[in-house]
Amino acid sequence: MNKLILNFNSKETKKIKIARNFLGGKGANLSEMGKLGLPVPPGFTISTKVCEIFYKDNKKLNSKLINQIKKELRIVEKDVSKKFGDLNNPLLLSVRSGARVSMPGMMDTILNLGLNDKTVVALAKKTSNGRFAKDSYRRFIQMYANVVLGVESYLFEELIENYKLTKGVLLDTELDEDDWDGLISDFKNVVKQKTKKEFPQDVNKQLIGAISSVFLSWESNRAKVYRKLNQIPSEWGTAVNVQSMVFGNMGNDCATGVVFTRNPSDGSNEIYGEYLINAQGEDVVAGTRTPRYITKKAKKEAKLKEASMEEEMPKIFNELRKILKMLEKHYKDMQDVEFTVENKKLWILQTRSGKRTAKSAVKIAVDMVREKLISINEAVLRINPNSLDTLLHPTLDEKSNIQVIANGLPASPGAASGKVVFTSEEAERLNDMMQDTILVRVETSPEDIQGMHAAKGILTARGGMTSHAAVVARGMGRPCVSGSSEIDINYEQKFFKTATAQVKEGDIITIDGSSGRIILGNVPTVKPEISGDFSKLMSWADNIRKLKVRTNSETSFDTKTARDFGAEGIGLCRTEHMFFDEERILSVREMILSKTQEDRAKALEKLLPHQKKDFLEIFKIMKGLPVTVRLLDPPLHEFLPRSEKEISEVAKAVDTDEKEIKSRIDELHEQNPMLGHRGCRLGISFPEIYEMQCSAIFEALVELKKTKQKSAFPEIMIPLVSTEAEIKIMKDLVIKTARKIQEKNKTKIKFLVGTMIELPRAAIKAKEIAKHAEFFSFGTNDLTQTTFGISRDDSGKFLNDYIENKIFTIDPFVSIDEGVEDLINIAVHNGKKQNKKIKLGICGEHGGDPKSIYFCSKAGLDYVSCSPYRVPVARLAAAQAELKKKFN
Ligand code: PEP
Ligand code: MG
Repeated sequence: MNKLILNFNSKETKKIKIARNFLGGKGANLSEMGKLGLPVPPGFTISTKVCEIFYKDNKKLNSKLINQIKKELRIVEKDVSKKFGDLNNPLLLSVRSGARVSMPGMMDTILNLGLNDKTVVALAKKTSNGRFAKDSYRRFIQMYANVVLGVESYLFEELIENYKLTKGVLLDTELDEDDWDGLISDFKNVVKQKTKKEFPQDVNKQLIGAISSVFLSWESNRAKVYRKLNQIPSEWGTAVNVQSMVFGNMGNDCATGVVFTRNPSDGSNEIYGEYLINAQGEDVVAGTRTPRYITKKAKKEAKLKEASMEEEMPKIFNELRKILKMLEKHYKDMQDVEFTVENKKLWILQTRSGKRTAKSAVKIAVDMVREKLISINEAVLRINPNSLDTLLHPTLDEKSNIQVIANGLPASPGAASGKVVFTSEEAERLNDMMQDTILVRVETSPEDIQGMHAAKGILTARGGMTSHAAVVARGMGRPCVSGSSEIDINYEQKFFKTATAQVKEGDIITIDGSSGRIILGNVPTVKPEISGDFSKLMSWADNIRKLKVRTNSETSFDTKTARDFGAEGIGLCRTEHMFFDEERILSVREMILSKTQEDRAKALEKLLPHQKKDFLEIFKIMKGLPVTVRLLDPPLHEFLPRSEKEISEVAKAVDTDEKEIKSRIDELHEQNPMLGHRGCRLGISFPEIYEMQCSAIFEALVELKKTKQKSAFPEIMIPLVSTEAEIKIMKDLVIKTARKIQEKNKTKIKFLVGTMIELPRAAIKAKEIAKHAEFFSFGTNDLTQTTFGISRDDSGKFLNDYIENKIFTIDPFVSIDEGVEDLINIAVHNGKKQNKKIKLGICGEHGGDPKSIYFCSKAGLDYVSCSPYRVPVARLAAAQAELKKKFN
């Protein structure tokens, strides 16, 4: 493809296959709609390749590109019979960003471009609507000044608000042509004051300025944050769409709206949307006016009086409905469509795959299979596994005392409780202190993205289901109640009022994003279950996947939860975590701090019954399934007593003085505990610890056998092995202990012995290690740490710098790094060479990350293991991995 700028309607566009990477999502869809013959305002797309050139040329558009843009503009002028900058019939343009995937509200848009002191007069004359022309001009100055010239928006808003006060009116619509005229001149003064230059009157300069700033907005802070949260690579860049303007604000036979082909909140198969009469698109999305519904049904359900579009503009509504059907059939997916009605003529401004809640995504995918629109494989591929997280989160316990103080729109489902905060900064500050918050705003703007992420839930007083708050919250999976006109926020004094309550900053509220309720205090929640469409989708995924999914768990509560979510065994039971409760940690500390074998034996004796009981419970829950029990692996710093109180407790328990304990702590102090006396090194130094643990496992098995209860199948795992000798010594110890218990109880015990592969040497020397291991489990937390030599506890401090400098595209502790992948591949290859039947799994955090699961599937592992709430995510990701492998 030689052309870098493509007209939506050009012959070339009709011939070529629309390339999304090149034209961006919005550009590709506009061209495709052009091909389908839909009423799309003429325009062109400046490709993402130009974005790359722009940044290479020191953030400038070179003259060759400018000429190409002008050439395309001439074609648009011809199509609409208007001229850019003309003094009789001026063409106005919209300039919008359009990356490969939609990033709602994250980049810049400029509307009404091409207006200046002269063209505004021409527009007024041509449309016989002076008020409309002046209103458009002031909007343009405001947007352009903000986006391109960097003048803060509130300066203009303040002027409007003050003017309305002096005139004694409430609404913008009550201002007439003369009022806007005066404000335009005030606006231009603000621009001059702030930029020391006149507002640009040359329309070509306006255009180049706008295109450049859309490219620049790709590197804006909020776009960067959004990319990081959504794992969008920064190399993609954005395209820019330049399109002739159509107007929804020319009078009462005009409107603008946003409509989804299905309900984005619950997925039901009915169109759902909002519109505003006599308004421009920004008014709907920005949430500054609360819009009306598109359908009669939605209006009725919301108990609103204002007419729906179906009632107000029935002919156009029917035309719109037909187009929506056609778009959904064409794209085979739910669409989010922006439209404008200009003097009774319908225009489609854009279509894109609609953002939806996880609940809605699952329902839509399953319904579309039933409607024979897509295949089962497509349905399985369509759901983002990470999004399932929100379906697995608790909902309100309706049996508890629920004191509703107000209602709003159910914009993003799920329940959340937390302290009320009124600024994003406060939400971030409290989040850093591990405190839950609900961010309460009149409306949100893209600047709030970090605060929205930090908060547990979002509540807004203004804005509909498609407002910024609603769209972004759904994308992030944060519960959100939007557009609650029943709350009255006072930012200055930091409280909000409802008819029945006054809530101060710091007070706790609960919001229910599924019903729109706002509730005083903390409301208990109930565990969700997998049923209905969700369970259907999961059963499809289970039929497709080959990887097994286990869980990391060491408590019976987590083990039960994981079983309910479909875990097929335990891939990692961290035995040291079984000792975290108060009573046991003391014995663990005693054991670690013991100077003599005798003292240690006493501490171990106290621990044994606890261990046995824990294993018994877990083995019962996981009956018939494998359970990998890892022998003790405590990096010492996590377990040594720190506070005076803890030290005094241990001193009492071992009957010595605090000084003695302190000196022992000093003795045990390690410079690098993560590389210290942990893992099997502990088993080598103190075999009696591992012996006690194995005895607990085997005795639990014997007991279950005696009572004829079905047990899980234990796999005993040795941590932090790097040499053949280590695993051999440890395996012998396990077998010796098993023999003792077998002989004592005159019974046979079945189990496997294997090792973690979490050190580079172990991966490289896997062939030798596999002589003594019946399974390998990749501990990718430590393997990542030791491959990079980056401490897993401290990497957060410089991770951002690494992402900023494009050294990492993603945190290697979240998604497996390529170098670590190479080590795993070596270990798999060498391990299998020695032992064809060796069982292979992963139990690092990566076991719940879809991208890493894809790798595990390609590497030929047998299972992944992850935390209980990630189990459904991993089941789906494993199915997707299988399907993707077929296509790649
Ligand atoms: C690992 O290192 O990946 C692992 C699972 O062990 P831990 O996180 O307990 O060190
Ligand atoms: Mg480890």
